[in-house]
Amino acid sequence: MIGTGPFSATYEEARARFVEAARAAGGALTCHVTPKVVGPTGESLSMDTAWFGPRNARSVLLNTSATHGTEGYAGSAAQLDWIENGGPASLPPDTAVLLVHAVNPFGFAWGLRGTENNVDLNRNWLDHSLPHPENALYAQIHPLLCPKSINDKAMTRLLEEGSRLIAKHGQWAVEDAISRGQYSHPDGFHFGGSDLEWSTATLKQTVETDLAQAEHVAFIDWHSGPVGDGELIFLCFSPPRSPGFRQAESWWGRQALDATHVEQLWGSKRPTRNGILFWGIEQSLAPDTAFAGAVIEFRSAVQKRNAADSLRISMLERWLRFEGGLDAPEAETYLQEIRSDYAPDRESFRTNVIANARTTYAQTLTGLTSWQMRDAAD
Ligand SMILES: [Zn+2]
Repeated sequence: MIGTGPFSATYEEARARFVEAARAAGGALTCHVTPKVVGPTGESLSMDTAWFGPRNARSVLLNTSATHGTEGYAGSAAQLDWIENGGPASLPPDTAVLLVHAVNPFGFAWGLRGTENNVDLNRNWLDHSLPHPENALYAQIHPLLCPKSINDKAMTRLLEEGSRLIAKHGQWAVEDAISRGQYSHPDGFHFGGSDLEWSTATLKQTVETDLAQAEHVAFIDWHSGPVGDGELIFLCFSPPRSPGFRQAESWWGRQALDATHVEQLWGSKRPTRNGILFWGIEQSLAPDTAFAGAVIEFRSAVQKRNAADSLRISMLERWLRFEGGLDAPEAETYLQEIRSDYAPDRESFRTNVIANARTTYAQTLTGLTSWQMRDAAD
């Protein structure tokens, strides 16, 4: 039966339930506590990992949640349901699952997408001693995205000035500049950081240590956000027609990974990406380890009226961090608005998340087994 029970109300609850369920199911737990920040009730914040199956398994499914903080409610529920619904007991031979709960515990606990340093972890996994990817157009958009107050005047200005920039540079170039990641404005949108974040460094170390023996690694990074009701969008970052892409297609279907289909669900042409977990993890594995996977979005938000409304959720987060503070009178309403976009409490959303996660875990684990057998036969 599919219920909404695995959904938690807070990070603290989600973490406690994950740890308890993983322990009860025989998982080997590791707790990485963040050194510098705590949660809203003073609770310690941690990235918790649970390993199920043989330590020397040749095939491993690595599954992360809350890379984008508050998006973690759905991913955490999916992980908890997998544990509680008999996942660990029905692993195929020579296969293990490594669940990483709350890659960004600060964002999860406070209801924000970025880390304690306003960093977007899916822009951060880069060699920061090298020049950062450029994003010159962002500087022109930044002031529009960062008003002192989020009111009608600010939203009208964003629409009007935004239209001028779109007329000059094109719709996609402006959208891309906003979301591709930038390394020049620490108080801006999708800031990629100036060094590896604690979350990135901790995950990197986990991959290097725990997956050193793996020959085949499947990766699922649960996210939420795009408009919908718990349906999935598969964002595979392996080059089209590469072995990794073909592998992902064989698990989740060609249609699910088809570029046109994905862009239709996403709502526009896919933006440029740098510094994402997917590539960072792939590069942290041993050179002969085969890797395939995807960022998988649970669609969650409601349809917006216009472009300014679509940007409003990110503007609220930025305002709470840099203008009003998390103790501002507006904070409770703003945080609720952010949460209802990424983790609505609609029952239909929640049951769809659980049902779709179950299907995806089953497809991936079956796929891992045939991948292993096929490569062994070659
Ligand atoms: Zn996300």
